[in-house]
Amino acid sequence: MPLDMVDTCLCMGAGLGIAQGVNHIEPDTHCFAFVGDSTFFAASITGVINAVYNQANMTLVVLDNSTTAMTGHQPHPGTGKTMMGDVVAKISIEGILKGIGLEYVKTVNPLDHKASVQAVQEAAALPGVKAIIFKSPCIAIVKSDKCLTVDQEKCINCRKCIREIGCPALVIRDDKVIIDDSLCTGCGLCSQICPMAAIGGEADE
Ligand code: SF4
Ligand code: SF4
Repeated sequence: MPLDMVDTCLCMGAGLGIAQGVNHIEPDTHCFAFVGDSTFFAASITGVINAVYNQANMTLVVLDNSTTAMTGHQPHPGTGKTMMGDVVAKISIEGILKGIGLEYVKTVNPLDHKASVQAVQEAAALPGVKAIIFKSPCIAIVKSDKCLTVDQEKCINCRKCIREIGCPALVIRDDKVIIDDSLCTGCGLCSQICPMAAIGGEADE
């Protein structure tokens, strides 16, 4: 669940070092470090080399939306465009991680709930440094006009969708869970976890 996922939050790129440190202090704790794709290129490659070389036991999660969303949308080596707008070959995050020596590097669509949970469980069960790349386009760039709705006849108001997804489009109005169509991107994630199959409509594939 979104708010249960983070134990420490310092700054972009710091999680990778913190995860290695925590692992050496608490060897039984399996740490997940999160980093965006642009920060991976800017600040994390040396950290992964350090983790592998010093035999850390942790999972790196790269949230790859193929843009620099927070700091200005400038291109980075994973976008396939230079600052001058030239189209060039992308540098593969997966290729870098495998080149450093990681044996488990899995690219998963984070909007596929089952596949995502499976990848996290697989990575956590393996020793050493592992990586999951959650790859999905940035919703600020790839706009969608799709939207799901809650079938109030089927909904039992359990609020699992709100607790487990944390999507701002899922809101409570008049004590009922509804989807705010001005915020929903039609990603389909909530429909995958509803126990009553009460969420439907036009989802992105
Ligand atoms: S998870 Fe499904 S049944 Fe539960 S509140 Fe959400 S829409 Fe309703
Ligand atoms: S489909 Fe996606 S964006 Fe829309 S309410 Fe569900 S989780 Fe949120």
